[in-house]
Amino acid sequence: MIIQLYKRTPLYVQIIIALILAVGLGLLLGGGNPNPDNANLIKNLAIPSSLVLKALRSLATPLILLAVLHSFLTADIPARAGRRLFTLLITNTTVAIIIGLLVANLLQPGKWYPLKISQGTSSPVKAFDPWGLLQDLVPEAVLKPFVDNNVLQLIFVALAFGSVLRILKEQQIEEGRRDYLAIEQIIEILFQAVIRIVDVCIAFVPLAVLGIVGKTVALEGFAPFKSLGAFIVAVLLALFLQACYYLTRIHFGSWVEIKPFLNQTSDAIWTAFSTSSSVITMPITFEVLVKKVGLRESSASLGVLVGSNFNNDGTALYEAMSALYISQVIGSNLTLAQQLVVVLTSVFASVGAAGIPQAGLVTMTLVFSAVGLPTEYIALLVTVDWFLDRCRTAINVMGDMTVSALLDGQERSLLEEDII
Ligand code: ASP
Repeated sequence: MIIQLYKRTPLYVQIIIALILAVGLGLLLGGGNPNPDNANLIKNLAIPSSLVLKALRSLATPLILLAVLHSFLTADIPARAGRRLFTLLITNTTVAIIIGLLVANLLQPGKWYPLKISQGTSSPVKAFDPWGLLQDLVPEAVLKPFVDNNVLQLIFVALAFGSVLRILKEQQIEEGRRDYLAIEQIIEILFQAVIRIVDVCIAFVPLAVLGIVGKTVALEGFAPFKSLGAFIVAVLLALFLQACYYLTRIHFGSWVEIKPFLNQTSDAIWTAFSTSSSVITMPITFEVLVKKVGLRESSASLGVLVGSNFNNDGTALYEAMSALYISQVIGSNLTLAQQLVVVLTSVFASVGAAGIPQAGLVTMTLVFSAVGLPTEYIALLVTVDWFLDRCRTAINVMGDMTVSALLDGQERSLLEEDII
């Protein structure tokens, strides 16, 4: 009965309940003025969140590898449309990250409220070394990027295997052979398996929130949450600016008119917000684009099918802002060059963030590792991620719809079968 109730309660409700309980627990244990007798208990409250974070960190590399291999093997994109799609995806994601970094640099949310940082948790932030980065791009062993959680090396390995597997597949199809199907199915099943394991880890997030928020309130009172409030404001502002950028692009690059577009696509945006998953929203996104907006099926399917797997601008923006925010909180401001590494890794991390709830949290560990930020601080972000995930998912879906509208071009299709 209790398990049934637990299963039927949406994750965000569980997290809100955990937050309320955690505040009570934290106050009971001292509320910023802890009794030394409870020191051990308070310290151990962090165990669930550190376990969840460790699990997420270890899942990030297989998730990215399998997402890239899966897309290489299964995507069917005509070459010309593919090039245009690629350019659109990369410009939109880059703009998203630049907006995120600009807002984080201007507002400096990590400095609004000073945070007491427990000594010994922060490691020195890595300096930027472009030649070293290049030299480091090829791993010494194929499995090394998995051990080191090195996102750039991992992408290198994934792209190498992905493109070769794709070439082999096409050669075999020409020769009438079907051996490639075996590896395609294995990758499909492994991809599903990793996503299921991520789901299991995410199910423990409420417990992690209970522990880490309880511990934080007990030790430091409410100051850290004021700081997170500043972070939420900054992220929402940046996501809003990204939405404005999309609408401007649609206005100048497509026949679609902005006002009706916002009305017609609201179902998809709200579904994204309420499910926190661009993949779950995918059928609705496709339907509103074809049936309500009136895009050609080909543009809608390219933008939405490829986009919901690959195009996660909201996630990229969020990951870059999180890195900058935490660097401000711990007082080790990232230089411009280090922020470049954040841009690069955030692009790849967002590609690997499969469109499922809180996937961005999984791949964020790689962005942090790339610049040497301590990943323990992601625990702080877990407390607000359930809400910000919804907002960035809505932007991810809006990004996919923007790409579809731009692919549809300046002229509306007048073919009967395209207008339903
Ligand atoms: N939940 C997001 C999505 O489905 C991914 C993320 O966690 O950023 O698009």
